[in-house]
Amino acid sequence: MIEFQSSFVEKLPGDTEFDNYPRQVINSCYSFALPKPVENPSLVAFSEDCARLIDIEPESCEDSAFVQIMSGNYIPAGTKPYAMCYGGHQFGNWAGQLGDGRAINFGEIVNRKGKKWSLQLKGAGPTPYSRTADGLAVLRSSIREFLCSEWMHHLGVPTTRALSIVTTGEEVLRDMFYDGNPQFEKGAIVARLSESFIRFGNFELLAARRELETLRKLLIYCINETPELSQLNEDCSFKELNKQSIEFFRSICLKTADLMVQWMQLGFVHGVMNTDNMSIMGQTIDYGPFGWLENYDEFWTPNTTDIPGRRYCYGKQPEVAFWNLYQLANSLRQLDIDEKSLIECLDDYKNRYIKSWQKTFANKLGFKKYLGNKHDLLINSLIDLFKKFGLDWTVFFRKLSLINFDPNKISKKANLKIIASSSYQKTDEGFEHKVNEWLCNYIYQIKSEKLSSEERIELMDATNPIYVPRNYLLQEAIEKAQKEDFSLIHQLMQIMQNPYTDQGPSCEQFKNKRPNWALNKPGCSSLSCSS
Ligand code: AMP
Ligand code: MG
Repeated sequence: MIEFQSSFVEKLPGDTEFDNYPRQVINSCYSFALPKPVENPSLVAFSEDCARLIDIEPESCEDSAFVQIMSGNYIPAGTKPYAMCYGGHQFGNWAGQLGDGRAINFGEIVNRKGKKWSLQLKGAGPTPYSRTADGLAVLRSSIREFLCSEWMHHLGVPTTRALSIVTTGEEVLRDMFYDGNPQFEKGAIVARLSESFIRFGNFELLAARRELETLRKLLIYCINETPELSQLNEDCSFKELNKQSIEFFRSICLKTADLMVQWMQLGFVHGVMNTDNMSIMGQTIDYGPFGWLENYDEFWTPNTTDIPGRRYCYGKQPEVAFWNLYQLANSLRQLDIDEKSLIECLDDYKNRYIKSWQKTFANKLGFKKYLGNKHDLLINSLIDLFKKFGLDWTVFFRKLSLINFDPNKISKKANLKIIASSSYQKTDEGFEHKVNEWLCNYIYQIKSEKLSSEERIELMDATNPIYVPRNYLLQEAIEKAQKEDFSLIHQLMQIMQNPYTDQGPSCEQFKNKRPNWALNKPGCSSLSCSS
């Protein structure tokens, strides 16, 4: 029996209208909305790890009661299901009210350790925020979200979690290629968990509408939910509010900087970094047309809608996160939070990002610390190699720890073979020359490090994963699942548990670079937002 709390709805102003139809919801943080019952819910997969987070025995996730709850057919006692009200900047433009158009929150669960988890169902039916859409989600995008968010967690990246995925037994119409040919697809619901699903956009909408009393309440609520900050009363002084708000914003800036370093170091591209998809927890949220960098290209975007402007391409992510934080700072300014201090927090973001990126890149290469100019030269010349020879980001770094440092011919040849195995291009003399030149410099610098070989390899292998959820793997899992075969989903769930550890010959194919057939296949190289 899971027990729910409803602090978000109890402490914050909500919509006074109870009917569920699309509308502008004024001066509110949420609207009550019930999930739409579904015809024939069936469990596809669940995360044992997530079940344990909320004290559910993994065995009971296969019970029909669990499936009924996670499909929205059974509303657990004590819940007050609601959809959040938020706005956002989409592709750099203010989009006004967006809100949970298809996510319905049951409320918060406090586990035995006293930790609070919000539980929401994504794809559970329309809400007042659905605008012209149906409130539903398809199996295809739900599998992507389910697998990638759990994988991210095991990679060590802050993220919303995915407890379960169920099919609804109903069909959902989607124009996957945006070409005017909609098709029916299987409907599905993902149950997500997070400490908080509040986004930058929750603040932005209230600020844009100058609903300042509600904005202030939301801010105080968030501060009080942040364990590192001191509690505030509703009637606290401006001075107290100002001080805690700045610390709150600083914590978001620092967490977001750390998140960007993680994304960049792993080659993750979110694809839709709109401000409504930015979590105040500094977590990865809303998995849509994301992708993993394969052959290096800083302008690569997995999102077909983003191709014209490439706003959300790999290389721009840290800058876009900064832009998004700036929008959040602007919202706080509406409450007169001190401008100079907010700007200092934004500077903290930049400094934290740069310092942490340098250290992480040094770790990827096997250096304990970043050593300034010397490392800059090594890193820049490596990026040139990546660009020139189309090297796979994940395979290259993982294999780099295998490089042999003996200066004899045999090891030189073996080293070239190691690097060539990460290239998407035919390798020629030019490749050999350039790679040898870089390796020579690299080996020279590694040898001047004080780390033992074992320590260096341990550091590199803890930074550079073997297995990441490449789009083509997810697409294969989706194609099988469409035929009721969930075996690949379950196999990937095994592999994701230890992405930094070699899992033997039976998992060999999952550590390879993208196969050629996947280069231009829909769902493998680029994706639309259709979900
Ligand atoms: P996204 O880009 O997926 O994060 O979604 C942007 C906005 O569109 C959010 O307000 C979503 O709730 C809403 N949305 C996306 N898909 C649907 C859908 N099928 N039905 C209702 N709202 C949706
Ligand atoms: Mg979203």
